[in-house]
Amino acid sequence: MCGNGWVSHCCVTVTNRGRVIGIVRPRLRVLLVEDSEDDAALVVRALSSGGFKVFSERVDTADGLKAALDRQAWDLAVADFSMPGFSGIAALEIVRERDPDLPLIFVSGTIGEDVAVAAMRTGAHDYIIKGNLARLVPAVERELRDAAVRRERTLAEQRLAHLAYHDSLTDLPNRALLQDRLQQAILGAQRDTKLVSFLLMDLDGFKEINDALGHHAGDRVLQQLASRLRGVVRDADTVARLGGDEFAMILPSTGSGGAEQTARKVIAELERPFSVDGRPLLVHASIGIALYPEHGLTAETLLQKADVAMYVAKGDHSGCAIYAPDRDRHTDRRLSIIADLRAGLDAGQFFVEYQPILNLATHAAQGLEALVRWNHPQQGRLPPSDFIDLAEQTGLVNPLTMFVLGRALDEWSPAMTRGSLTLAVNISPRTLHDPELPDRILDALQSRGVPPSQLVLEITENLIMSDPPKSTACLTRLHEMGVRLVIDDFGTGYSSLTYLRRLPVSGLKIDQSFVLGLERGEDEVIVRSTIDLAHNLGLTVIAEGVETAAVIARLLAFGCDAAQGTFVSPPRSADDTRSWLTSLQ
Ligand code: C2E
Ligand code: MG
Ligand code: MG
Repeated sequence: MCGNGWVSHCCVTVTNRGRVIGIVRPRLRVLLVEDSEDDAALVVRALSSGGFKVFSERVDTADGLKAALDRQAWDLAVADFSMPGFSGIAALEIVRERDPDLPLIFVSGTIGEDVAVAAMRTGAHDYIIKGNLARLVPAVERELRDAAVRRERTLAEQRLAHLAYHDSLTDLPNRALLQDRLQQAILGAQRDTKLVSFLLMDLDGFKEINDALGHHAGDRVLQQLASRLRGVVRDADTVARLGGDEFAMILPSTGSGGAEQTARKVIAELERPFSVDGRPLLVHASIGIALYPEHGLTAETLLQKADVAMYVAKGDHSGCAIYAPDRDRHTDRRLSIIADLRAGLDAGQFFVEYQPILNLATHAAQGLEALVRWNHPQQGRLPPSDFIDLAEQTGLVNPLTMFVLGRALDEWSPAMTRGSLTLAVNISPRTLHDPELPDRILDALQSRGVPPSQLVLEITENLIMSDPPKSTACLTRLHEMGVRLVIDDFGTGYSSLTYLRRLPVSGLKIDQSFVLGLERGEDEVIVRSTIDLAHNLGLTVIAEGVETAAVIARLLAFGCDAAQGTFVSPPRSADDTRSWLTSLQ
């Protein structure tokens, strides 16, 4: 209840050297469902003498109740259980339909125990006999507290559900929602024999802004661009951010003419500089267009074809290009990278770096994440973002994953066998669809004598959602073997915590975009509620992309379990990581 100077949703106790001198409560908006004016007045009086400043309204019909609920928000509903012409149960149903979190208490002269039990079963929060109104104030206090907790939880879940389908920087639909909308648009077009245009856009000159002026400037440009793009398209169209500086647009019922016109409008919008901290900044775009049904019948092929067209537009600096099959064959720079990938694997051009994961409670390194890199003979050192997608599309990702696992185990198996380190390896979409994966992983562990519990596999949610039954079978088998599973980049995909509950995962890694946001004082609510909800599900939480001490401090305050990022240590070679680990002791 109300403690010494303790502030709750229902009251503040004012004390003078330990002596209670008064209770100040906020205004209470009470909706009374009651046919008798006198009984309603008794309820108001009981609440007022309990210290509440009551604002009340009395209704005694279904229509009156509906109107009152629609007109304004209420803190509490108090309903008579049996009225001539209107029943308490019917009132309860109406309240639940319109405001599921609103506490409802029955007050009745006639209620018997069996009726009371029935009422509580239907979702009332309490019942009070009219002759015993003394119970009302404590019951109301309790219900207000519980309702506040329920509301906060609902809000946190709504925020997370929104995040699952939206990009947190621009609030545009993300890749997951885009794919869904594109599929819907295709289905609609099939039904009505219509066209769909799909535009994929990548910025030129964006990386330079990020490098020269920092992520803050880059972020502001992306936000301004998002609102300009929304201004260009119609309401029925979708604008999405796929990540980085990549955007996409779906234009239903639009053919090549309309698509090109829209692309030109976007390009014209970019002739006006963006303004960041008073500084004008220019970026250019390359847009690739693919058309349904001409270039593809599925969302996946349209995305691929638009991607090829975008590279054509980039290559000839034309700003925009419609997919053309003849250009696909010889312009695809991907083909050469694919050939190089295969050769590179054989020639030993790939290597692995390790990034420590710091346990925030013990300040010790609890594990290492293995991150692959490519020493390309012509292009130099390439980050995974340059080749993982292609490796996936060509099936080369399976040998690549096994290479990373094997190399990392070779380098770390003594420490893993001693139990002093866990090793985290990233698993790509598709790899999980390989039924032989679990056995191959088990072989790799057993041949080096490493217990499976020292291996962590990082998986992205999108991957699990792309084929739930197949990947769930694989995940379950890995879990049974004792390998630990964590969800990577949490918050960027189809992050339904409810769904995660059904998977054998032991933890999640909050995506670095949210963690970076903490530095700017943003995303606090998201990070905090993700940590709380994950802990409620028994999951541990790692924050990735920790770049400053200030962010570590925030994470500690939120109860986060572990942190990874350049502030702790950037990814390093095995030897450098060993020196770093020694220096930590
Ligand atoms: P990830 O698994 O989320 O890995 C974390 C990424 O964040 C790494 O990028 C790491 O270098 C980077 N990073 C670490 N600390 C910080 C920081 O403080 N700030 C910022 N801004 N970034 C930080 P990297 O190495 O470029 O890897 C990118 C992604 O490529 C990885 O994301 C992972 O999804 C994928 N990847 C890496 N290695 C492999 C692999 O062996 N197999 C597969 N399938 N994917 C891999
Ligand atoms: Mg990872
Ligand atoms: Mg990640």
